[in-house]
Amino acid sequence: TFVFGIETSCDETAAAIIKNGTEIVANVVSSQIESHKRFGGVVPEIASRHHVEQIISVFEETLEQAELTFQHIDAIAVTKGPGLVGALLVGVNAGKAIAFAHGIPLVGVHHIAGHIYANRLVQEMSFPLLSLVVSGGHTELVYMKEHGSFEVIGETRDDAAGEAYDKVARTLNLPYPGGPYIDRLAAEGNDTYALPRIRLEEGSFDFSFSGLKSAVINTVHNAEQRGEEIIPENLAASFQASVVDVLTEKTVRAAKEYGVKQVLLAGGVAANKGLRSSLEHAFSEIDQVELLIPPLSLCTDNAAMIAAAGTVLFEQGKRDGLDMNGHPGLDLEQF
Ligand code: ATP
Ligand code: MG
Ligand code: FE
Repeated sequence: TFVFGIETSCDETAAAIIKNGTEIVANVVSSQIESHKRFGGVVPEIASRHHVEQIISVFEETLEQAELTFQHIDAIAVTKGPGLVGALLVGVNAGKAIAFAHGIPLVGVHHIAGHIYANRLVQEMSFPLLSLVVSGGHTELVYMKEHGSFEVIGETRDDAAGEAYDKVARTLNLPYPGGPYIDRLAAEGNDTYALPRIRLEEGSFDFSFSGLKSAVINTVHNAEQRGEEIIPENLAASFQASVVDVLTEKTVRAAKEYGVKQVLLAGGVAANKGLRSSLEHAFSEIDQVELLIPPLSLCTDNAAMIAAAGTVLFEQGKRDGLDMNGHPGLDLEQF
């Protein structure tokens, strides 16, 4: 089967073709980051307009790369939520138009299911498994007993991990999105600032990052007031150590408690070098659990992951009609 994936939930206009759920035939991502940088974040109106301008050429390039036409495509998989509603609607309507024009079945995909299924482009999944989803809008531990089944066993109560990275980066006057800049700075510094590890109640798999973010902001303000210099490399390293420690600790505990065979890292923050090496180290000591980490290009938003998740849903008989809508707050357990 060939599945054509479409992703427009935020600031990447993306399309891809996946063969048999696991093999990338074409993968095209057009990023708008340059247009949003000067505003320090994604501007929804600008995002929608860019998607409209880019989507046709992204589709054409995808078919060209694959040397296929829509006649060869068995299903269209498109992100129907969560995300910016105006941005989602561009992909959803493009998907519906192609499905209608060529008589191809249509499957709506949850964006986070896509992030998780990026792992299937690397290696086959074995169940039960646990996925640590860390992105710009989400921080969740997701338990999967089989394909297409998602149980959220823990989630952030305030900021997402990526959001905390981006806010801390702004405090340090780094460009948007700041995650990769903090990651690079952290590699040059040491954990000297003694920032808190926020673990919440004993046994909880939930997360909280807003207190840590405030601790970083206070550290910078207090230094300014005393006329002292902060050492950005060390502050970045201290912040990253705090995030990575808590994420690693809770993921290891959940993997043991739920007796999973695999742990899958997913989402944009999965590109973080500190997090990748901390998880690799932790799971190298647990023989029963296999750790999967997608390559950097499949961690941030792309349509290959949407087509990978869409293939499984398509094979399970899931379909959406031409009345499909964009859902900014789509629920992972219900969609
Ligand atoms: P969601 O997937 O929750 O809807 P999103 O699609 O905007 O949100 P992604 O594209 O998955 O989020 O990830 C983007 C986030 O990943 C940004 O917050 C960015 O700073 C962060 N990020 C990217 N690379 C790194 C890195 N190396 N270290 C830390 N954070 C990173
Ligand atoms: Mg993005
Ligand atoms: Fe994403």
